[in-house]
Amino acid sequence: MDKLKSCTICPRRCGINRYESPGFCGVGDKVIVSKAFLHQWEEPCISGQSGSGTIFFSGCNLKCVYCQNHKISQEGYGKEISIERLSEIMLELQEKGAANINLVTPTPHALHIAEAVRAAKERGLSIPIVYNTNGYETVETIEALNGIVDIYMPDIKYYSDKYSKKYSNVKDYFDITTKAVMAMYEQVGFPVFDESGLMKRGLLIRHMILPDLLEDTKHILRWIRDNMGEQAYVSLMCQYTPMYEASAYEEINRKLDEWEYEYIIDYFFKLGLENGFIQEHSSAVKDYVPDFDLGGV
Ligand code: SF4
Repeated sequence: MDKLKSCTICPRRCGINRYESPGFCGVGDKVIVSKAFLHQWEEPCISGQSGSGTIFFSGCNLKCVYCQNHKISQEGYGKEISIERLSEIMLELQEKGAANINLVTPTPHALHIAEAVRAAKERGLSIPIVYNTNGYETVETIEALNGIVDIYMPDIKYYSDKYSKKYSNVKDYFDITTKAVMAMYEQVGFPVFDESGLMKRGLLIRHMILPDLLEDTKHILRWIRDNMGEQAYVSLMCQYTPMYEASAYEEINRKLDEWEYEYIIDYFFKLGLENGFIQEHSSAVKDYVPDFDLGGV
């Protein structure tokens, strides 16, 4: 893959030769996967009855101090596999009844994924492909995934560069991410569901509310409404639990208060937004973090 010789797959644009050493994301030239299984805890339109065929990739182009998946995203835990094996894993998940193939933190692996999906489709893969990303993507990479990805599920994490720098070590997150999200929207549009309520195609934006950052969340919701309209689908997540290095940041070293979540849900409807997924406030992130045990890999 020539593009790995001077990698600009994500907005970090390291320009590094990944055949010689990993870039900022910690990923070299191989696919690294830590788990593949039927995930029951995504949004109901993604998990369905049988579960979402989720593949967790190692490495990440962000450095979130509170990362729930730090074992794989920051510490690199996982197993190197071939593109052929990745494609087989997709077919195995389909065989087990997966509602879709859900690619978690796919960005550094986007080129490998495109090849694996093409190969799997030739062998009968027919369920939707979900690109489950932190949102920090280039428009070029999103355009290259046209025809490969059916459902984009990006985060929009921050509005303020001050927070993105402090908590995820990225200085231009909102500007870059919103451009990428618009490219996703232009490619797949609003969600389309089948008769059972499973999502088949479209854009579903995720936002995890951080304690004390309610004004930041409000800016993000306004941006969504102003740029995509009131029918945009947004998953508002309250599952934040301080993990990894979050204890070093006093203001986010706590869970979200119930009133904070209710305040944001209220604001969401006041803006005129119509389509949201919300969680039980009692949801805790630890319930959602799978064991990264190489199962299914
Ligand atoms: S994918 Fe990794 S190596 Fe490539 S530009 Fe992004 S951080 Fe750098």
